[in-house]
Amino acid sequence: MTGIFDYHLPTELEGQVKPGCLVVVPFNRQSVHGIVLRQVAEPQVQETRPVTALLDPQPALTPAQLALAQWMSDTFLAPLASCLDVMLPAGLIQLADTRYILNDEPKPAAALSPLQQRIVKLLQERGPLRGRQIDTALPRQAWKPAALALVKKGNLLTRAVLPPPSVHSKTVRTAQLAVPPGEAEDKLQDKKHSSAVLQRRIAVVHFLQQESVPVSVPWVYADSGCDLQDLKAMAEDGILILGETEVWRDPLANLEWVPSEPPPLTVDQANALEKVNQGIRESAAGQSPLPYLLHGVTGSGKTEIYLQAVDETLRLGRQAIILVPEIALTPQTVRRFLSRFPGQVGLVHSKLSPGERYDTWRRARDGRLPVIIGPRSALFTPLPDTGLIVVDECHDDSYYQDDFPPAYDAVATAIAYGRLSHAVVVLGTATPSVRMVYQAEKEGWTRLELPVRILAHTRAVKEKMASLNRPVPSLQADGVTASLPLPPVHVVDMREELKQGNRSIFSTALQTSLGQVLDAGQQAILFLNRRGSATYVFCRECGYSLRCPHCDLPLTYHAGESILLCHSCGYRRSMPSKCPNCGSTAIRQFGLGTEKVEEEVKALFPNAETLRWDAETTRQKGAHEIIMAHFANQHANVLIGTQMLAKGLDLPLVTLVGVVLADVGLNLPDYHAPERTFQLLTQVAGRAGRSPLGGQVILQTFNPDHYAIRAAAAHDFAGFYKQELDYRRKLRYPPFTRLVKLEYHALKADQAERAARTMAQQLQHWIEDGSHAATELIGPVPSFYARVNGYYRWQIILRGPDPASILAGKPLGDWRVAVDPVSLL
Ligand code: ADP
Ligand code: ZN
Ligand code: ZN
Repeated sequence: MTGIFDYHLPTELEGQVKPGCLVVVPFNRQSVHGIVLRQVAEPQVQETRPVTALLDPQPALTPAQLALAQWMSDTFLAPLASCLDVMLPAGLIQLADTRYILNDEPKPAAALSPLQQRIVKLLQERGPLRGRQIDTALPRQAWKPAALALVKKGNLLTRAVLPPPSVHSKTVRTAQLAVPPGEAEDKLQDKKHSSAVLQRRIAVVHFLQQESVPVSVPWVYADSGCDLQDLKAMAEDGILILGETEVWRDPLANLEWVPSEPPPLTVDQANALEKVNQGIRESAAGQSPLPYLLHGVTGSGKTEIYLQAVDETLRLGRQAIILVPEIALTPQTVRRFLSRFPGQVGLVHSKLSPGERYDTWRRARDGRLPVIIGPRSALFTPLPDTGLIVVDECHDDSYYQDDFPPAYDAVATAIAYGRLSHAVVVLGTATPSVRMVYQAEKEGWTRLELPVRILAHTRAVKEKMASLNRPVPSLQADGVTASLPLPPVHVVDMREELKQGNRSIFSTALQTSLGQVLDAGQQAILFLNRRGSATYVFCRECGYSLRCPHCDLPLTYHAGESILLCHSCGYRRSMPSKCPNCGSTAIRQFGLGTEKVEEEVKALFPNAETLRWDAETTRQKGAHEIIMAHFANQHANVLIGTQMLAKGLDLPLVTLVGVVLADVGLNLPDYHAPERTFQLLTQVAGRAGRSPLGGQVILQTFNPDHYAIRAAAAHDFAGFYKQELDYRRKLRYPPFTRLVKLEYHALKADQAERAARTMAQQLQHWIEDGSHAATELIGPVPSFYARVNGYYRWQIILRGPDPASILAGKPLGDWRVAVDPVSLL
């Protein structure tokens, strides 16, 4: 069911059904599940039908979530039903079950069939059972019709239920004292336990009293002779806390010492944390502070701030949500949360089965998992009282869901959620987007800066060096920390290399450095931007790339028709035979893959152990983890990869990062291209030199003068921001305008084109009718990815002060709409 319909409550459910509750309702001739939105005074229809059953007395969505769904629906022009749907764990409805209960009131004894007698006997023996439990008790029996007959006769009652969460096998249960040992013993003495029980439970207290951290329960059993029953009873009596720690496969476990105690903060960190904590206290008192933008270079100690802010949140009895781009790519962050808050962290990720997802959801809703970590969808975990929302690497594209509906921006949604639930929102990144910084300035958010890299923990450094058999360098320590400069970036002009007669994809400088790193037993990362390669045309001699004469966006090469196309205005032309700039014939499309880079490394350095990390090598489940572990364990010394390696890796032996061609991303036909390039280069450079061994970055380019490349090489965010804003203002792009992208997919090319042309006319009318003269329509044109999975794609862009308002409430059919999209591709 996808819509909003009116029902009434039968008397027996009155007072029990609250907004956000999951209910069963009649719909046409079927029974379907629905979410209660609100009470209405005037139903839309004359005769409402009654709600059949309440699935769970506890609402599935909190009031703040219901309000958030409405906000999402309004903001992103998505149906409310689909916004509610993303907030529920996948498969929740399928888990709904029916509980069968014997009717206590004596009924006239009617003759029962043998199967009916068995059902009654079963329920007499075991009490009320869920359908799935009866399935197991009466295997291979068609018991349902028999049970229904019993319901009709009045012998049985039924109730719709959600099953209780099961503890799944991937967790270890832990125990920890909840009160001081003396108090625990008093509590035990107060109960009239038999002496054997008392003895066992006192032994538990004695054992746990020696441990300051949660202990996994088999240890408790072994030491005290107790069993799970004892521990559960003690937990119920408030003597101990039973927790669960996920057994989570950490590819980098044991490679690095992680302080589970909070380290003393640096001065910058302390200042930043103090501001965040103040917000956390204010929000606990019912205020909604504006977001905090935490801008800290890679390795500047942002995660430590998140950890301590979570600590403050928990201290105030509230819960926290930590969003990360992707758990598999950020294991080091996840591990630090798990070790700092053992038994309290719930991981949400794509590899959970529906059952596991449901269990985490239930336990989080009950307040038993006060710290939730996961990708964008983890934002919708129904915590009892969300006090803190952290969005780590908040510049990352994965926070914008546009692969399936509803299309929404999880960062904007997190900010709205913070406002609605009185939670502090911390947005952390080394490379904030221009749009976000602009918004922060305009709306007066608190900006927190961490400009200096921390050279990890001195103890960690010493252990690292010892394990590598290297002398500990003298550190400029400030207490337990030392700071570290950002790695120097050496820009190589590839046009010069060609002039010198070097036709290799590696410059002389990169070859030399790679050789040195390998000789020294260190490691190198070679980065290649995959998106956009093989699509743009440029001159090897002068670096000139072909652009649209109207839009100044790069033209893309379409191999099929052998033409060059502008994805903004539709301009097309044939492939030139000579460079319009210098007349050279060395003009052609760029095409280079990671395989080619690997080949080239092997040819130059036959002894190098290479490893590829790209879409192809990570297709298999768990591949990210395997590759990371392989490289971290030094089974390879050259890692060649695409975008993925920009994210989490922090490895001490990596002393060289080579960017094979920095300009690939610059030539994507999207106004984000310079920004995306700057961010990516900065993040990739951040992988080098994170230990006392130091490190350097070599950046190869045909465009050494481009402002994005210059700024990335100089670690100059402020300079980039200024230039980028100028560019956006000039071309009337966000943040000076807003965009909406409309996309249509069809199996037939002409069908997609026809739909796009019709819609463009319609849009033109809406623009004129609504006097939105300031809004312009760009397109329709075939999308950059013109054909995906057999579907042809056409797109239209609306640009103006508030283009979404033109579409509000309009019939958009099969059009996919993205408001404030992160990419026009
Ligand atoms: P970021 O999240 O900004 O990349 P991290 O929080 O991961 O930075 O910090 C980088 C490194 O410095 C990590 O190894 C972390 O354990 C260490 N670190 C952070 N803060 C401190 C501190 N106050 N004292 C000692 N080590 C620290
Ligand atoms: Zn154009
Ligand atoms: Zn040229």
